[in-house]
Amino acid sequence: MKDAAMPDREPSFRDSVDLMFDRAVRFMDLPPGLEEKIRVCNATYTVRFGVRLRGAIHTFTGYRSVHSEHLEPVKGGIRYAMAVDQDEVEALAALMTYKCALVEVPFGGSKGGLRIDPRAWEEDELERITRRFAFELVKRDLIHPAQNVPAPDMGTGEREMAWIADQYRRMNTTDINASACVTGKPLSQGGIHGRVEATGRGIQYALREVFRHPEDVARARLSGGLEGKRIVVQGLGNVGHHAARFLSEEDGARIVGIVERDGALWSDAGLPVEEVKRHLAATGGLAGFPGASFHADGASVLEAECDILIPAALEGVIHKGNAHRIRAPLIVEAANGPVTAGADAILRDKGVVIVPDMYANAGGVTVSYFEWVKNLSHIRFGRMQRRAEEAEHRLLVSELERLSDDRGLGWTLSPDFKRSYLRGADELALVRSGLDDTMRTAYQSMRETLRRRPELGDLRTAAYVVAIGRVAESYRAKGL
Ligand code: GLU
Repeated sequence: MKDAAMPDREPSFRDSVDLMFDRAVRFMDLPPGLEEKIRVCNATYTVRFGVRLRGAIHTFTGYRSVHSEHLEPVKGGIRYAMAVDQDEVEALAALMTYKCALVEVPFGGSKGGLRIDPRAWEEDELERITRRFAFELVKRDLIHPAQNVPAPDMGTGEREMAWIADQYRRMNTTDINASACVTGKPLSQGGIHGRVEATGRGIQYALREVFRHPEDVARARLSGGLEGKRIVVQGLGNVGHHAARFLSEEDGARIVGIVERDGALWSDAGLPVEEVKRHLAATGGLAGFPGASFHADGASVLEAECDILIPAALEGVIHKGNAHRIRAPLIVEAANGPVTAGADAILRDKGVVIVPDMYANAGGVTVSYFEWVKNLSHIRFGRMQRRAEEAEHRLLVSELERLSDDRGLGWTLSPDFKRSYLRGADELALVRSGLDDTMRTAYQSMRETLRRRPELGDLRTAAYVVAIGRVAESYRAKGL
């Protein structure tokens, strides 16, 4: 958070990402110059455009940064927030490069942002602003199914993605792959089941994977499974909400604290996440929620004793000024960059285990990848398998019935049995299993790297080593 409590000497977000990158490359043997090539952002486009609204012309500033094009298209969300600036967008674009490499999603890294308070505008105004921003980006191939594919991020969602996709279509009427120009679209516009909750689902799968390894759990001075674990979630936006919901409803974890803009809630028994979310949507804050204590000073809950802390809002919320007060032994970075480089060092010294952002929140881009593939293939996931499986199963069912007839066995297969037997995998099930598989594999590559090279010290450094290694390999193979 860019707040006054942040000590002066805290590096910028961009510098923080570079410092973490530098820490990792010290352990690598990259050819001269390649390190610099990978670290720097290739290009950042800044656009200022005017939109006539409420009787006056309003000027907006937007960015699209391309960090690395070692693979194309490049990928990353578009953020709507007042804090958006070039430094932030470039840091986020760099994280996209490493994130995609770590989870083996074949994209380069990019990110966009518009300096705007989305709550200050009506829906039709936001549509005009978004379409105008999209127009500027499409014109420069910064939105394009083969070159640059945006997605939702803070302050944007399905609605904005539908406007962007439609704007691209209007400007490229003959592009048969137009719907792959952006991901996170509504289902009716070529979206995919499970994308909205994908990042939160990914957090759940990441934590489940951590808890499958008792030694990793012990390193965080915890034991047992996720059941009953006390979790504090900071930010009940799309990511924090879904992560908190799945972990409490499906894994038996207790969401004891929720931190939001106006303060925080605490309940030893666990907060009812859906009810808190409804209260937040209706009143704009957490204050006044019944059955839990409200703390106007959110920091007291962020720093409270708990088992797992999930910062799921902005970058830099754990900084040099508060890191030494954090009491959670395990932090899962659902947001991008919630821990500054300075805080990272303090927490490492304290023995806190951090599941790094580039891994923990990769569920969003992973399911975006599935959506992009689905759009390019022009067929719903599972549809072909389903037909093939059904045909195969029908054959089996009729064989069984014929056998029964031939031998006079009198077997009958109930319609219910036949129906359930014939039902193929649906899209959501495929998306979930694909995401689960991705989160498991990525954790294991990070963990295995740390196990083989204990001098790396922590999961984040291991994640960077894996990711940078893959980007470097791709440059080498291409013959830079
Ligand atoms: N904005 C999300 C992220 O930071 C998703 C990006 C995407 O799906 O391309 O990872």
